[in-house]
Amino acid sequence: MNTKKKTIAIIGGGQLGLMIAQEAHNLGAAVAVLDPASDAPAFSEADRCVVGAYDDVDALEKLCDGSCAVTYEFENVPGAVLRHIEDKYNIKQGIAPLLDSQDRLREKANARIHGLKTPDFIPVPALDFMDREDGDGQMPGNPQFPVPLSPQDASSLSGKERQHQLEQAVKVLGMPCVLKTRTLGYDGHGQYVIREDSDLEPASALLKVPCILEKFVDFDYEASVVMVSDGKNTIHFPIGRNIHTGGILDLSIVPAPGLADGLKENASGARIAGACEDFMKSCGYRGILAVELFVKGDDFYFNEMAPRPHNSGHYTIEGCSTNQYRELCRFLLGEPLETPRLLAPTVMKNILGQDLQAAKTIVAESLAGAGPGVSVDAPEDIDNAFCGEAGKGVYVHLYGKTQSRPKRKMGHITFTPMTLREFDEEWAYRFM
Ligand code: AMP
Repeated sequence: MNTKKKTIAIIGGGQLGLMIAQEAHNLGAAVAVLDPASDAPAFSEADRCVVGAYDDVDALEKLCDGSCAVTYEFENVPGAVLRHIEDKYNIKQGIAPLLDSQDRLREKANARIHGLKTPDFIPVPALDFMDREDGDGQMPGNPQFPVPLSPQDASSLSGKERQHQLEQAVKVLGMPCVLKTRTLGYDGHGQYVIREDSDLEPASALLKVPCILEKFVDFDYEASVVMVSDGKNTIHFPIGRNIHTGGILDLSIVPAPGLADGLKENASGARIAGACEDFMKSCGYRGILAVELFVKGDDFYFNEMAPRPHNSGHYTIEGCSTNQYRELCRFLLGEPLETPRLLAPTVMKNILGQDLQAAKTIVAESLAGAGPGVSVDAPEDIDNAFCGEAGKGVYVHLYGKTQSRPKRKMGHITFTPMTLREFDEEWAYRFM
């Protein structure tokens, strides 16, 4: 009998890698992790740690050697580098979803081609918006489908030219609109909301690199759907309703009000989840995919996607019968997928640097009530990597990051059973 454990190789050692590794271990597999930082959170759980840059082919080879499958825990892994190893190792999700998610222009065009509505968008800076001295005041070309400038051409524009570009693009879409860098933006970084003329000049500083200008959607709320597909079966987790603060996810609420009756998805929820599953199938993606949406009345718009576990899916660890990390691992290990079921109303609160003290206080208080024999620490003595139940139905996950700073994701707490109303009444003040 072959008793050798299967090994999953993970590119990236952040908190998502940590939680993938925990579930891989729960399923009896081993884990290898690559990260440039020697104190990356997932190293604490990994069986084999490789410290190296993501574009270091030798480090990638070391990571993948002996693995049954390779996955990535963030979408900015340089796709071109993976081309060197894709023939040799089993990058089971493939590189396509990674490349499709790395560029907002490609990502949104792809979403439309495969059946999802998006906010109106155009690339900027564009050839069509160049200031032409011999012009007749008309915009050349077709401003609805402008031709984007290359990164080199974008970088050589003067401040005046950038502002002109933005003015032309804003004329096409109208205000309010959002300017975003096409690559490497996250959590509201690399974007600017344009509501009035005075926003044009400061926003145009972003145009040193290729950007996308999007119509601002006055949405009712944001939602996300996390799916896992093995090519035959596609499952999705209960849709989360997401509340962002300052561009960063703050809370996920499940069941999403408006998209479920009791714990079960209603017709609106099923329509959204069905459209996302159809999108995933139409793209031919396998593995895990999270889709972020804006919901407005009966309409919903694709905002972005990530071919990895998603922050809004942390709640599945305690809130569902199976979780996003476990189903990703099942896919990677070639095991049948399990359809998830929501166990109870659940609220997930992200713990950013500014919330860490409050989270540790919650842990310290729960230990104080734990009875004789349990030593009680002051909040500041609680381990940065604490993971466990801190009072009934309060599941604290701290990621073990050594440096805390405002807005950095340091952990999350899942409250279940818990409704948003109960959270607001009983817990929200702790994080103010
Ligand atoms: P993103 O990095 O694209 O996910 O944007 C971060 C946050 O900015 C989103 O979660 C929304 O809250 C907001 N946002 C982004 N794009 C739009 C848009 N087109 N209309 C309205 N709000 C947006």
